[in-house]
Amino acid sequence: MNTQEKEKLLEDLKKEVLNCRQCPLYLTRTNPVFGAGSIESKIMFIGEAPGFNEDKQGVPFCGAAGKILDELLADVGIKRNDVYITNILKCRPPKNRDPKPEEISLCTPYLEKQIEIINPKVICSLGRYSMKFIFEKYGLKEKLEPISKIHGKIFEIQNLFQEIKIIPFYHPAVATYNPHMKEILKRDFQILKAIK
Ligand code: URA
Repeated sequence: MNTQEKEKLLEDLKKEVLNCRQCPLYLTRTNPVFGAGSIESKIMFIGEAPGFNEDKQGVPFCGAAGKILDELLADVGIKRNDVYITNILKCRPPKNRDPKPEEISLCTPYLEKQIEIINPKVICSLGRYSMKFIFEKYGLKEKLEPISKIHGKIFEIQNLFQEIKIIPFYHPAVATYNPHMKEILKRDFQILKAIK
C-alpha cells in the first residue's frame, strides 16, 4: 500500500472514530483521540487511553505522560514525529479510571485497523492493558506475565508475511510519581536504539 492509500484509509477511519457512539464514553468525552505521527513508521506505540489533556486537545500523549514519553524517545534519538502513537481506547474514561473490558472490545477494532494499515514492524505497548491486548492479538497469551517480569523484552512473532517485534514497556505515567521507574523506562527504551 502506498502512502496516499494509507492516508485515505486512515482519514476514513478517523472520521468513524470521531463519530463513534459505540460505548458510553462518547457521552463524557470532549474529543476522541485517534492517533498521531508517521504512518510510514516501523514503530508503533500503543498507550492506554486519553487523559485530561488528550481529551481536550484530541492529541495522544500531550500531557504529563507525554512529556516523559518525549524524553524517553529523545534519549534514544527518536523524534516523536517519526513514530506512530495511539491508544487502546480512543475516548477518555471519566476521571482516568481503568478501561473496562467491554470498552476495550468495542474500541479495539479501530486499533486493529490502524495496525493493519500502518503495518508496523515493532509494536511497543505502554502499560498493562496495552500489553495484554497486543499479546492476546498476536497469540502470545502463554507468554503473558506480570509487566514487572517482561518489560523491555522483545517478543518476536511471525505472521503470514513478516516478522513483528512486540516490546512491552511500563506506562510512562508511572514515572510521573516515581523517579526510579523513569530510570527503568530509560533503560528499557535503549533497546529501541538497535531497532531504528
Ligand atoms: N496515557 C495514555 O495511555 N495515553 C495517552 O494518550 C495519554 C496518557
